[in-house]
Amino acid sequence: MSENLETLCSRVDESRDSMLATWKLLVDRDCGSKNKAGVDAVGQDVKGILESAGFKVRFYEYPEAGNLLIAERGDTTKPFVALIGHLDTVFADGEAAKRPFTIKDGVVTGPGCLDMKGGVTVLLSAMRILNEAGWDRYPVKVILAGDEEAGHQKSTAVRDMMAEAKGALFGLNFETSFKDNSVVIERKGVATFRFDVQGIGAHVGNNPKGGRSAITEIAAKVADINALTDYDEGTTLNVGVIGGGTVPNACAEKAFCVVDVRYKGEAGITRVRAGLKAIADKVYLDGTHTEVTELFYFPAMPRLESSLELFSRVNKIAVEHGFPEMTAKGVGGGSDSAALTMAGVPTVCALGVKGEFNHTVREYAMEDSLFERTKLLITILCTI
Ligand SMILES: [Zn+2]
Repeated sequence: MSENLETLCSRVDESRDSMLATWKLLVDRDCGSKNKAGVDAVGQDVKGILESAGFKVRFYEYPEAGNLLIAERGDTTKPFVALIGHLDTVFADGEAAKRPFTIKDGVVTGPGCLDMKGGVTVLLSAMRILNEAGWDRYPVKVILAGDEEAGHQKSTAVRDMMAEAKGALFGLNFETSFKDNSVVIERKGVATFRFDVQGIGAHVGNNPKGGRSAITEIAAKVADINALTDYDEGTTLNVGVIGGGTVPNACAEKAFCVVDVRYKGEAGITRVRAGLKAIADKVYLDGTHTEVTELFYFPAMPRLESSLELFSRVNKIAVEHGFPEMTAKGVGGGSDSAALTMAGVPTVCALGVKGEFNHTVREYAMEDSLFERTKLLITILCTI
């Protein structure tokens, strides 16, 4: 490690208390995706911290979703580094008061401590320390979404992030990380669809031939929906919810099901959309009618060759500077790295703090990983 890097990393050790204070500040605020005011308040906290680290900060404002924070340092019309994450959590209001930020034996708990207030703290801390040292190796753009956990369903954040990512050399996302030092270069996309079948009701005793059972129709469709799964393509479908009818002695007038789809690339979701539409249009039982509605869509983070190369460079830097060796993997859950890779920007995801059980009350993060990952980020930005 060069003298300069050593000094910068020792600044992390000297800043432990203020870094933990930032982490606590971010965790102890209710900012579930549904709480726009809470997310926007955290956005203001983060704005202040980034401004004191030499950034100019602006927001994309959305009426029904947490705002998207964009912060720039240096001339971002030139190739820049994109550092990204999100400010919202999955937790309801009141959770922060019930389970405030706590550290016990090196284990941090509190809503969103792992996903991903710890990662945001890594990003903010590294920027503050690099700014104090006058670092200006690359222009930097920080992109922090306010509605990631809600899949950006009520905003144009995916499109806006893609536009902001254009021109980036590479992207690093400080999402939830793993105890085994793996990071993520590929994520499946997620979509959900709802089928609604309209049948004809009838009394099954007095008029057994008069009805058209919506349940019989949807049962036939479920097998066809399952058959759209293609493991080689990386596409899986799951009919996770089903319902219909009212009482045993009536032919069911209505039935519905909800389908979860995981896919690796646009080709997969395009095939599934067409397939589900064909299944809805196909009538097994004359007299029934089916509508299919797409409820939710979150893009995939496709595996780019350039992301794999970026990972190799990052891992080499880590190992050369005494950090644990990393592995690259693909996972089933989405993140905003999708927006970067869709814009063609090589991206490594899950560089945040390490822990387990995000999205649950069992969520925890390892305190030490905050300092290790901040040193790693500083080392990457000074070396790559
Ligand atoms: Zn997250």
